[in-house]
Amino acid sequence: MSIIEQLSALKKEIPSGVKLVLVSKFQSEETIMEAYNAGHRIFAENYPQEFEKKVKSLPEDIEWHFIGHLQSNKIKMVVPYASLIHSVDSEKLLYEIDDYCQKNGLKTKVLLEIHVAKEETKHGFTMDEAEELLEKLRKEPLKCVTLCGIMGMATLTDDNIEIQREFTLLYSFYSRMKQRHLQWPEFKELSMGMSEDYKYAVRLGSTILRIGTKVFGKREKL
Ligand SMILES: *Cc1c(COP(=O)(O)O)cnc(C)c1O
Repeated sequence: MSIIEQLSALKKEIPSGVKLVLVSKFQSEETIMEAYNAGHRIFAENYPQEFEKKVKSLPEDIEWHFIGHLQSNKIKMVVPYASLIHSVDSEKLLYEIDDYCQKNGLKTKVLLEIHVAKEETKHGFTMDEAEELLEKLRKEPLKCVTLCGIMGMATLTDDNIEIQREFTLLYSFYSRMKQRHLQWPEFKELSMGMSEDYKYAVRLGSTILRIGTKVFGKREKL
């Protein structure tokens, strides 16, 4: 199937309240433009350099999300252009983003990345750490950063029971925090679900899907 066909088939499957973010890392600008010309406007990248380059050369009405690990020295390549940063994975990074925004007169929306997968390589807070941080931020709110919810990735496995267990954990943590922090009306996003596991994610309460391969096909390294 072509990109256009994959995209329209996928959109038919996804409930209307769930946002589809197309993950375009390692995809060429021509490939992204195929989805753009089919009417899609929300894309996400993982690497700051590639992100900034694509933001600057592709159409201005694209809503760009950032979903990769972000180092402090790359904040300036990402924060000014990202509608949503899904991957805030440390307290230090969160405060650095807030500082950067204050100095530059910017506002930014972020999600906290929660680590539930079995792989050590994946980044993120434990639920306990995130809960503690949110409690602290309730007392001393950030100046320019809005917390919009959480992001998580399931283990890369064929074990569907395990994937569903992890998504259930993410969902229950997310809903508990949402209830607890009614002072943040924008805390309402649960970013979970990728090409291989989005069907479970949708069933288990995801509000944002991050899908690459299923629409674009295998990634070619640039
Ligand atoms: C690459 C990536 C995706 C998309 O993965 P696919 O399997 O291609 O759909 C989603 N989320 C994150 C954080 C990624 O790095």
